[in-house]
Amino acid sequence: MSSEQALVIFSGGQDSTTCLLQAIENYGRSNVQAITFQYGQRHTLELECARRIAQDLGITQTVLDLSLMQHITRNALMSKDAEIQTAANGVPNTFVDGRNALFLLYAAIYAKGQGIKHIIAGVCETDFSGYPDCRDVFVKSMNVTLNLAMDYDFQIHTPLMYLTKAQTWKLADDLGRLNYVREHTHTCYNGVAGGCGECPSCLLRERGLAEYLQQKAQTS
Ligand SMILES: [Zn+2]
Repeated sequence: MSSEQALVIFSGGQDSTTCLLQAIENYGRSNVQAITFQYGQRHTLELECARRIAQDLGITQTVLDLSLMQHITRNALMSKDAEIQTAANGVPNTFVDGRNALFLLYAAIYAKGQGIKHIIAGVCETDFSGYPDCRDVFVKSMNVTLNLAMDYDFQIHTPLMYLTKAQTWKLADDLGRLNYVREHTHTCYNGVAGGCGECPSCLLRERGLAEYLQQKAQTS
């Protein structure tokens, strides 16, 4: 186990919760902190989930208000009256321009102040290749930029980058936390507790889980 500290960018969803559980395993509970961004999400349910999970796991959580995003960009994740759709270029209109760049920047500023070098983000380019700021090339570029900007040796970790949703479920299971993630996390775009079962996020999550459980049944 590392004696260093880590900061997890934490939304309360499946991916970042799995990252948080893995960080606790790798760094030790007392060396892990979470940072959560409030940026005008349509639903406050995911923020409540994030608070509850951080509290439940005994992790120090910092919640930052980035609601100024609402004044400069429009998308279906933040706007109550917009329907969730996927554009011709494959990018769903739930994409928030600049979001991960901002998250990483604010996370880095906070981390440096705490003497933390490791920043963990649950971004993934396997299932969501439509989101440009979820790509590995962006994260690596941002890592260089942050190190130069603050003259500090940040190391951004993206453990889910090349995992499918099924493999992310497997990771939770390997950490002994499959049911925890299933029951406590929130990923639905429509803000339905337990999932609406219809939005792109719910479909991805449920399909991945079904695929993993099937594989598991076949190999055991
Ligand atoms: Zn849903």
